[in-house]
Amino acid sequence: MNAMSTERLYDADPYLRAFDALVTEACPADAAGKILVVTDRTAFFPEGGGQSPDGGTLAGFPVTDVQLRPDGGVVHTVEIGQGGAAAGAAAGATAGANAEAAAVAGGIPEALLPGQTVHGEIDWGHRFSNMQNHTGEHILSGLMHGQYGFDNIGFHLSDNSVTLDVNGHLTDEQVRALETAANEVVWRNVPVTARYPDAAELETLVYRSKKEIDGPLRVVTVEGVDNCACCAPHVSRTGEIGLIRIVRVLRYAGGMRLTILCGRRALASVQSMQAQAEAVSHLTNSPQEQIADAAARLLAEVEAERHHVRELEERIAQIHLESAPGGNAWVFEKHLSVLPQRALVNALCDRLPEGGGLCGVFAGEDGSGYMYIAGGRGADARTVSGRLRERLGAKGGGRPEMVQGSVQASKEEILRALSEL
Ligand SMILES: [Zn+2]
Repeated sequence: MNAMSTERLYDADPYLRAFDALVTEACPADAAGKILVVTDRTAFFPEGGGQSPDGGTLAGFPVTDVQLRPDGGVVHTVEIGQGGAAAGAAAGATAGANAEAAAVAGGIPEALLPGQTVHGEIDWGHRFSNMQNHTGEHILSGLMHGQYGFDNIGFHLSDNSVTLDVNGHLTDEQVRALETAANEVVWRNVPVTARYPDAAELETLVYRSKKEIDGPLRVVTVEGVDNCACCAPHVSRTGEIGLIRIVRVLRYAGGMRLTILCGRRALASVQSMQAQAEAVSHLTNSPQEQIADAAARLLAEVEAERHHVRELEERIAQIHLESAPGGNAWVFEKHLSVLPQRALVNALCDRLPEGGGLCGVFAGEDGSGYMYIAGGRGADARTVSGRLRERLGAKGGGRPEMVQGSVQASKEEILRALSEL
């Protein structure tokens, strides 16, 4: 370990939530109100291997990012913000350290200056959730590797989603069987260990490796299930994961991308789905176990109603057609959707005199306005849209045979505007 590198306390003890460390470097970050702080040791896991960094506090200030430098130094981005120094001082005082942190030297709170001892606390809820999800990923990837020979080619663990990509595809049944097998590993509550095997052991050890890793190789073992090179914190026994769910499977890059949820996140998603199921059950007045049937029945009813409405609209159109005058015809109808409306315009056009004429169907009502379709025979239908635009500010246009658009006006205003055409 060189002089610049930070001792990674999470490596030996992933359950360490608080620690004290010596500040070795501190400088203002590019963004205002942020300080980059390097310490001699840290329990903060930096972003890496597809996993988001730990959050928490350093000397009472929020830690918003953690990155591992090539030289092994762990850089904490500390948010001092406006009044951040005072907040940090208060938190520091409660912790019994750095009570005078309110002093700021060169934009850096005194509590964060090199040589100071700082107290760090990681956001344990966030970290433990990451540990549950990361370990769950090892189990799923290990099982798929053992059973199907798939390799994990991508892993993403953010606060919003957990995905893992493999270079092979499974059927729905195989995915459900995989999920069950992964949960059986949880129930067996087997140990999860991390160690640095020596060169001799590495010769013979079979392990998965996501990518080349610099320095000594850390191998994480889920007993009887998986060996994988990994530097992240994991739970120490699989029972702590609680529940592993595969919630989405997409074809991806010749293989598949699984969206997974483990532990607290899996529980939260089940609770959310439970609430959804209860709501649908209530709305459809059916038992929760039968909401899919109830939804299918409702859709069938909606489809039947739509069919009924189409028939009624066709009858309404027929009545309008039969009562239309011989010359220009302007029809107003509240209930008419666009397909029967267009069919009615075509039928009205056919009835127009050989010498030429115009017709139009206005669907809607006074107040909310009308959607119109107009046609012509031996006359340009665009004169209708042109007149409505010019007199009533209507929108729309089209071809000489047919125009369509909308107009915010009353039936009386529209008929007046069209009366001299
Ligand atoms: Zn891992």
